[in-house]
Amino acid sequence: MAAPANSNTSELLAHADAIKTVDNEAFAKLLAQLEKDSATFSTEERWQLRYLEAWEEVYVGNFAKAQLQLGTIIRETPIDRIRMHASATLVNILGYSHRYEDAYTQLDQALDQLPRVSDKDARFHVLGEASQLLAGAGQYDLAANYADQIVADYKEGRPRCIGMYLKSHADFLRGHLDSWNEHAQQAIEACVKVSENLFADAARQDVASLAIRQNRTKDALSLLERSYPSVIKYQYPELVTEYDVLLAQAYWQMDDAYHAEGFALKTVDAAQKGEYTEPLATAYRLLYQIERERGNLRGALAYHEKYLEADKGRLDDVREKALAYQFVKQQVEAKKVELDKLNKKNQILQLQQALGHKEVETSRLYIALLLTVLASIGFWLYRLKRSQLRFMRLARRDGLTGIFNRQHFVEETEQALRYVAKSLRGACLILIDLDHFKTINDTYGHVAGDNALKRTVLICQQHLHSGDVFGRIGGEEFGILLPECTLIQALERAERIRLAVQAVPDSETEQVPLTASFGIASTTHYGYHLRHLLVAADDALYRAKRDGRNRVVMSMNERSSFAADRRTSYDTVANKSGFR
Ligand code: GH3
Ligand code: MG
Ligand code: MG
Repeated sequence: MAAPANSNTSELLAHADAIKTVDNEAFAKLLAQLEKDSATFSTEERWQLRYLEAWEEVYVGNFAKAQLQLGTIIRETPIDRIRMHASATLVNILGYSHRYEDAYTQLDQALDQLPRVSDKDARFHVLGEASQLLAGAGQYDLAANYADQIVADYKEGRPRCIGMYLKSHADFLRGHLDSWNEHAQQAIEACVKVSENLFADAARQDVASLAIRQNRTKDALSLLERSYPSVIKYQYPELVTEYDVLLAQAYWQMDDAYHAEGFALKTVDAAQKGEYTEPLATAYRLLYQIERERGNLRGALAYHEKYLEADKGRLDDVREKALAYQFVKQQVEAKKVELDKLNKKNQILQLQQALGHKEVETSRLYIALLLTVLASIGFWLYRLKRSQLRFMRLARRDGLTGIFNRQHFVEETEQALRYVAKSLRGACLILIDLDHFKTINDTYGHVAGDNALKRTVLICQQHLHSGDVFGRIGGEEFGILLPECTLIQALERAERIRLAVQAVPDSETEQVPLTASFGIASTTHYGYHLRHLLVAADDALYRAKRDGRNRVVMSMNERSSFAADRRTSYDTVANKSGFR
């Protein structure tokens, strides 16, 4: 792309902007040229140049410098359009650097000013960043809403493609899946039309991901394999990794351990040190399952540890994003309320000054009214604080069932284990996984699936004792830690839960048949480290599945010594649970 001959400054700047990513070398040269000539520039042209300079610093990875430059532009430029571009770019690098609170604060300021900005490209830039960042914070409705605004602004072109992709991605994340495939297809078409293959392939990634989730493995695999060659070409490592891990999952579903392992290892290799992402956690989990199936328990154990570490890191990041978002949102609201409070106070003062003594008497009522408003604002602030605390609590809870989420379950369990370890009183871990849950979703629908999950939680809760730790540790997987509990007691409790899950209540209109498999491990054989207990219980659960599901199985070590020690009780429980 050559610069138009005899171009004037604003044309050259526009050209520079257009080529900045596609031909960065030419862009850098043009930038140097423009810098030399900048003495003759108009104000707007000078600000435009400064923005492009900051952009280049971002491009070469010089974030600290870029951030300073962008900050100055945002504070000082009188040009709305340029302030919006600078804000959007700053939001992007702050998010990329995991500085979520700063990113949301910056985004909030830009969104505040956006209604006054008429420049379409500047609006697109801010709305696009907003949609991406908010999707990361789990604010999918907002993310979809901002994407919709882009689509409404543009009837065609690159922004329309990106807007449609962001919309389809937000819908995918928030589970709005009615005719979703069709919309995703439209996004792909819009992007292919303008040769934005990267976004087309990103949209295809969601399509493949859903297909895997719905057990349409062949569809997923053919889609992934078709796009893979072009995905590799973009040199966009995040997308390659997303594809690698989906390929690994698809092959694993097809029982092709060889290819599954290859793609999982590729995911692990590509991971940045210290960066914990969902693909990385998924890859380690797959590698763990592969080694377990091969009977290589030592290797499986090593991968399981890595899986737990990556999963914890990933969840920490998710939680940090969500907390930062809520924090900034509430700070912004609190600031508005404070401002309001200040204004009201000033009104009272002004009123008192303006009025003579007599009038003060008559205006008492008005002042009393204002004071009431002030008091209610105080109350409001107090409520805001409380809701902040409530949110902190919610971040530990699973959204669907209200019980501990995986991360919090792990924290609480580790604490409980430390406690029982001191007194050497044993504990048992029960892992529960619903049987053929994919089929339940496919047959009865996702809502019925969700209800089945809630029902399972209620049943478990009816069998909990005080001191037990209960959490949802995966989609349809639950964990219960029973402190100060013997193996026989744990087996009996698990067996009672199993029978209760299996019994479909008459009241249930949907009559969804439900069973679950159970794996148990105790501290007697695996010690007080949660990760060892998890692996052992998971292994038992795996065997419960393999042996036909709807049964309670204890881990290997327990099994042998248990059989020797307590033959009678063991036999009764074992027979009942179908444990052989
Ligand atoms: P298995 O007996 O071997 O456990 O078979 P499964 O079908 O249960 O297999 P798997 O554990 O791999 O599948 C879990 C499924 O649970 C996949 C996903 O569609 C579904 N699922 C996960 N989370 C949710 C949820 O929140 N709601 C609903 N309705 N389904 C979920
Ligand atoms: Mg499962
Ligand atoms: Mg299952």
